Amino acid sequence: MLIAGNWKMHKGAHEARAFAARLRHLPDRATDVDIVVCPPFVALEAALQGLGSESRVQVYAQNVHWELEGAFTGEVSAPMLLELGVKGTIVGHSERRQFFGETDGSVARRAEAALEAGLVVIACVGETEAEREAGETEAVLGRQVPVLPEHERLVIAYEPVWAIGTGKTASPELAQQAHAFVKSLHPSRVLYGGSVNPENAASLVAQPDVDGALVGGASLDPTAFDAICLAAAKTVA
Ligand code: PEP
Repeated sequence: MLIAGNWKMHKGAHEARAFAARLRHLPDRATDVDIVVCPPFVALEAALQGLGSESRVQVYAQNVHWELEGAFTGEVSAPMLLELGVKGTIVGHSERRQFFGETDGSVARRAEAALEAGLVVIACVGETEAEREAGETEAVLGRQVPVLPEHERLVIAYEPVWAIGTGKTASPELAQQAHAFVKSLHPSRVLYGGSVNPENAASLVAQPDVDGALVGGASLDPTAFDAICLAAAKTVA
């Protein structure tokens, strides 16, 4: 069971350090849950410092480039992340696809390079509201998922775009159905993402093909993130 908090463009170094220090001992209470936080690039090191060297909470980035170094202004490579102590990265978040021109091809390249370098990769997939209404969910997933590399460190996050930051969560049944479909296309673990909160987390992660959650908004609040991790721990206990 993996619970990852995507902080998006929130929390600078100062806040990240303090927040991480509060989370440091959470894995002792949420046993059997792998807990991850994904701060912005500039706050990665501060989050690692706040957690200290003993904490089992891991720090992932929100994106990574496919080259090791070079003329790629604004980008960060996998070796740079590993040097800091970062253990993984998100790729292909719908906000990157929507606002920064990320494509299935570039997401796959980022994932491949990060895996090869030794990072865990959380690759995000999911349909928009219009695509779901047009009955195209499986066609979209059928395009986004098979291009992802098969690797033991690859994790897929099914994040229906209509559920991200909207408060409209997929029902546990709908999530289960989509996850089962993703798993029919790819052998990796599949997280659910989209308005997960302390109230709905348990019923979502209790579904047989839901292996955890990628949490956006609710991961910014230490009390809510704590409650989600504890709810997840109860479902595996
Ligand atoms: C996300 O950004 O990955 C996400 C799922 O956001 P939220 O939980 O706020 O919907």
